[in-house]
Amino acid sequence: MSQVIRSPKMYDVCVIGSGAGGGTAAKILTEGGLSVVLLEAGPPVFPEKDFKMLMWPYELPHRGAGVGGHAEENFSEFLAPNGAWNIEGEPYTSAPGSNFQWFRSRIVGGRTNHWGRIALRFAPIDFKSATRDGLGDDWPITYDDLSPYYDKVESYIGVFGTHENVSSAPDGMFLPPPKPRCTDLIVKKACDKIGVICIPSRLAILTKSVNGRLPCHYCGQCGRGCVTASNFSSSQVMIPPAMKTGKLTMITGAMAREVILGKDGKAEGVSYIDKATRTEKRVNARAVVLAASACESARLLLNSKSPQFSNGLANSSGAVGRYLTDSVGSDGWGIIPQLEKMPPHNHDGVGGMHMYIPWWKFDRKNDFPRGYHIEFGGGRDMPGIGEFNYLLHEEEGYGVGVKKRARQTYGTGIGMAGRGEMIPNPDTYCEIDPNVVDKWGIPVLRFHFKWSEYEIRQAKDMQETFRAIIEAAGGEYKTKTPISGDRPFGIAEGGKIIHEVGTARMGADPKSSVLNGFCQAHDVKNVFIMDGAPLVTNPDKNPTLTIMALAWRASEYLLDEAKKGNL
Ligand SMILES: Cc1cc2nc3c(=O)[nH]c(=O)nc-3n(C[C@H](O)[C@H](O)[C@H](O)COP(=O)(O)OP(=O)(O)OC[C@H]3O[C@@H](n4cnc5c(N)ncnc54)[C@H](O)[C@@H]3O)c2cc1C
Ligand code: SF4
Repeated sequence: MSQVIRSPKMYDVCVIGSGAGGGTAAKILTEGGLSVVLLEAGPPVFPEKDFKMLMWPYELPHRGAGVGGHAEENFSEFLAPNGAWNIEGEPYTSAPGSNFQWFRSRIVGGRTNHWGRIALRFAPIDFKSATRDGLGDDWPITYDDLSPYYDKVESYIGVFGTHENVSSAPDGMFLPPPKPRCTDLIVKKACDKIGVICIPSRLAILTKSVNGRLPCHYCGQCGRGCVTASNFSSSQVMIPPAMKTGKLTMITGAMAREVILGKDGKAEGVSYIDKATRTEKRVNARAVVLAASACESARLLLNSKSPQFSNGLANSSGAVGRYLTDSVGSDGWGIIPQLEKMPPHNHDGVGGMHMYIPWWKFDRKNDFPRGYHIEFGGGRDMPGIGEFNYLLHEEEGYGVGVKKRARQTYGTGIGMAGRGEMIPNPDTYCEIDPNVVDKWGIPVLRFHFKWSEYEIRQAKDMQETFRAIIEAAGGEYKTKTPISGDRPFGIAEGGKIIHEVGTARMGADPKSSVLNGFCQAHDVKNVFIMDGAPLVTNPDKNPTLTIMALAWRASEYLLDEAKKGNL
């Protein structure tokens, strides 16, 4: 890799990564008239061939668990390609005492090919929560700054939901929601009994045709990818219109390694590994947008060292890699015996929850800061891997007895997942591991991660609430969690909820933040970050809708600055 092959062409913008943030940037920038080169580490995706939307479990080895069960940890072989907790030849490390899990994708569209499509707006208070409780920092922008961009994203990608006027979960530009399923109604009734708010969910799935995309036909398999593009993925919804402008050059199999700084203190291009030839190449651009996902973008900045920025590009604050958070997660489940008597019925729907529980205790004093929401599901959908595992722990023997019991209990379980806000702490961050490089010779990330007492108390509250709801529904709560150890109250390992953000946060003060309110680097005006890295807080709402709204707003700002000749 000694010889660097330079492209003589000068693009207006180089975007790194084609997921939620990068896809949005590519669409807005090209439609605004700029020439964009998009570097994408993975291959293209071909939905007809790559998505296993209408495949039966028996068509894959071990019903999708893979030979030796190898695929089980990556959500099975049915998952839309190409995401994994571990990528061959591309390691990351955890510091002693830390256990961080990092789910990455290497494919056009990134993790939006297989995300859960839960699309929730942050609330006004989420941008100013430090003012209220003194923890962490406020954002340099407000809900009102972002709200028009939530409108634009929702209207363009299609999100269903209902207007509910719940202050922790702002309403949006919604398509009609699908009807509640039987288990939704049971949970809703139980919630009403104990004073918990339960409302139709908000998912980026079409219940009506939008921009020529077909509405969902309720096959219930969104995680596998949708051949009809009825749910949102960047590969099917953001990249095609960008391509159509004729202004987008997409280079796949291009692993960005460094942003190159010019003598004038501005970025002048990006060097990348062409995976097919294992050669190092370079593209030139007037501006660079990093959208390789929050931690990968931090890695790129930290690996882009120069005499001006010996600690990494745009890192005069030292904040790159810091303020890392994931959502607090704890799961549980219970059995509702009355469902055993349910006649077979149509349980079809979208591949995700039809109802959910937004944060409902916002108006009282809790013994932990901020809040969480609850995702839930159950009923008679296609049995997945491990569906009946619990029976083998509970029932003696095998054969007819177990089968009979499986038939009896099939569809009677309700699972619950709490997703809550983590407060950034000084023990949680990523940095470059000085001793490890990946197969391309690029230094890798080392993670430090610690939950604080705040998050552990939140997980405890989740478990208590799950039990209360299941019992109010006349069911038996089955999950048992320890009160201490590595995962008290079932709190998930850091990174496991796949909502890692904050590693190059925005802020008003360049001494403690990397970006301004338009995702533009304080230190290098033609560098922008448009993935989860700019997020100042990580409220209970899943982050992707906010990543896209911020990217849309930042791209419009970039277009404006380019027009004024300011980049
Ligand atoms: C199973 C699953 C379920 C999820 N469910 C939800 C949900 O319901 N709601 C929600 O809000 N979020 C959910 N998420 C999280 C969501 O997918 C991410 O928040 C979102 O995709 C992040 O967008 P991004 O643009 O930052 O990164 P990504 O979508 O990960 O895209 C990053 C892109 O950059 C490319 N790339 C990486 N490194 C380089 C490099 N060095 N050079 C060039 N290209 C590079 C990757 O190949 C990828 O295409 C889920 C994630 C998973 C995996
Ligand atoms: S449930 Fe609907 S959106 Fe999801 S994969 Fe099936 S058709 Fe597509």
